[in-house]
Amino acid sequence: MPLTNVQARDLDAVIHPYTPLHKIREIGPLVLDHGKGVYVYDTQGKEYIEGMSGLWCAGLGFGNEELVEAATEQLRRLPYYHLFGGKGMEPAIELAEKLKEIAPCEIDKVLYSSSGSEANDTQIKLIWYYNNAMGRPEKKKIISRVKAYHGVTVMTASLTGLPNNHRDFDLPVANVRHTDCPQYYRFSQPGESEEEFVQRLAGNLRTLIETEGPETIAAMIAEPIMGAGGVVIPPESYFPTIQPILDEHDILLIDDEVICGFGRTGNWFGATTMGMKPATVSVAKQMTAAYAPLSAVMLPKFMVEALEAQSAKIGVFGHGFTYGGHPLGCAIGVKTIEIYQRMDIVGRVRSLAPQFEKRMMALADHPLVGNVRCKGLVGGIELVADKATKRSFEAAQGVGAKVARLGEGHGLILRAIGDTLAVCPPMIISEAELDELFDRTIKALDDGEAVVS
Ligand code: PLP
Repeated sequence: MPLTNVQARDLDAVIHPYTPLHKIREIGPLVLDHGKGVYVYDTQGKEYIEGMSGLWCAGLGFGNEELVEAATEQLRRLPYYHLFGGKGMEPAIELAEKLKEIAPCEIDKVLYSSSGSEANDTQIKLIWYYNNAMGRPEKKKIISRVKAYHGVTVMTASLTGLPNNHRDFDLPVANVRHTDCPQYYRFSQPGESEEEFVQRLAGNLRTLIETEGPETIAAMIAEPIMGAGGVVIPPESYFPTIQPILDEHDILLIDDEVICGFGRTGNWFGATTMGMKPATVSVAKQMTAAYAPLSAVMLPKFMVEALEAQSAKIGVFGHGFTYGGHPLGCAIGVKTIEIYQRMDIVGRVRSLAPQFEKRMMALADHPLVGNVRCKGLVGGIELVADKATKRSFEAAQGVGAKVARLGEGHGLILRAIGDTLAVCPPMIISEAELDELFDRTIKALDDGEAVVS
């Protein structure tokens, strides 16, 4: 298809993240113009069901007038202020109070940033600062996991456990260790039960800690459900089994709720769904339903006290972002949580989850599909070359990306993570829209089968 004028301008001026840059001219960018509910529309007026809430973030869909009004009111009242040097503003206070109320663990205070990467980067800096404050400067290493996704700053890309985030970026940096990915489908050994798999991973984690020396390890960071690594849902016993090993060695668990937070898994936070007992929590994305960028770390009292004590010793607490706690994001965050509470977001996700699960599981019969997995309103459809042996397609074939593009032809936006199609619709989706989403997914899979066979 010939490029439209807007596509040509895009290609001449914009670099697209997470895109094969050498192929983008061939593919042509999909330029979106507006959205309403669970639908977005391109510049030609074609409609798409946004089956991924953008990037797992637009949980209330598009065109929510209450959020637009809250944003407009805040922009008129105080479009910008900051929290440096003891300054404050009502929206930042109110949102922090709300976060403390709903947090999955005991939280004392909130420190703002703008993106998920910044929140996780902040977590690591604070834990280093905390351990220095505690007089144990050698306790600095961070354990992450293969296939984890924690962001793209130098440190958080290092924590991310995906090859494309490391290769030729000279990452990971020092003091990062990756332990196993808890994906039973891909990483279990022949004949191994799920429980045996969990025990093996727990054993490997213990060995890693003991080999490195627990006195050198500060924290482990984990998403309750790994999103950008391919929607990996750990076995139920995974976190309850590894948690005591961390506790035993005084290793803090950082809970990365950037995707799972705010109802997505059928609880306010994924930690509750997956049985995690974190010390600290990172939030972003659905906190503002993606109507403005905002992220935060939620800290327990013992860490806040240590930070304050260290500040008393060395002076100013030397961390903060110009836009951390931006009033626009905070005002939208307050309104977003108010809407989630009013609509009972947890109840809503739980009531849609059986239909979501039924339609997801039915896809397992499709010849292209090797494995489907889901929890709440998030899921992954893994495409394979051979169902019986679980053999993957050659990466160079780009089968996942091809099927996602075929989906666009049918008015559906999903995200291909390698050969896994991620599904994460806005949580306002209706039952009829959910059915439509899966009907379109089947069409994309059928077309994909014709293309690869
Ligand atoms: N953590 C998780 C679990 C994520 O999924 C993401 C982004 O998808 C991030 C962190 C990074 O967030 P951002 O892209 O806002 O920096």
